[in-house]
Amino acid sequence: MAILEILKYPDPRLRKKCAPVKEVTAELKQLAQDMLETMYHARGIGLAAAQVNKQIRLVVIDIRPKEEGRYKVDQLTEWEKQTPMPLIVFNPEVVKRDGKTTYDEGCLSVPTYFETVERAKNIELKGMDLTGKEFVLPMDGLLAICVQHEIDHLDGKLFIDRLSMIKSNLIKAKIKKFGYPDPEDQNSASEQSDEDEEVSL
Ligand code: ZN
Repeated sequence: MAILEILKYPDPRLRKKCAPVKEVTAELKQLAQDMLETMYHARGIGLAAAQVNKQIRLVVIDIRPKEEGRYKVDQLTEWEKQTPMPLIVFNPEVVKRDGKTTYDEGCLSVPTYFETVERAKNIELKGMDLTGKEFVLPMDGLLAICVQHEIDHLDGKLFIDRLSMIKSNLIKAKIKKFGYPDPEDQNSASEQSDEDEEVSL
């Protein structure tokens, strides 16, 4: 197990398109475990391989509550409760989408910034599990939002690209000017965001 470095915007490596996985090798299983450990350590609920500089189509997700005050279990939808967690998906693909929803999204690659993003409300996720078996899972709620956010990463896209042009340019200019808070400030910021139940995807 290892904690990997998470790339941060505007790192150009976050813009690369990731390649599909043909076979789940021992090396890829290890990478999935390392990504989970990295995600838990950073207190995120989702992480894409692109964020740890691996240009392959792999995402890990866990939206179960970790601590008091985090995302609460009674808020999970029926589909969310029925989904095995942590969710490790190779070649994730949304094969069906329906309706619209919005959420105040954050990202481990754009720390401390949160903005409202519109996504499909109900989706069907097709992917391959750790055993190499293909599956299709219906999902909604935060889980469906997180899946769409992570798949964007595999296509070199970030949530700040999905805002209005004005908002997107503003936040990018802000990051260029001020960067990100140092880790110590970030800790207090993330404690504060826990109270607002803001989570990084
Ligand atoms: Zn993200």
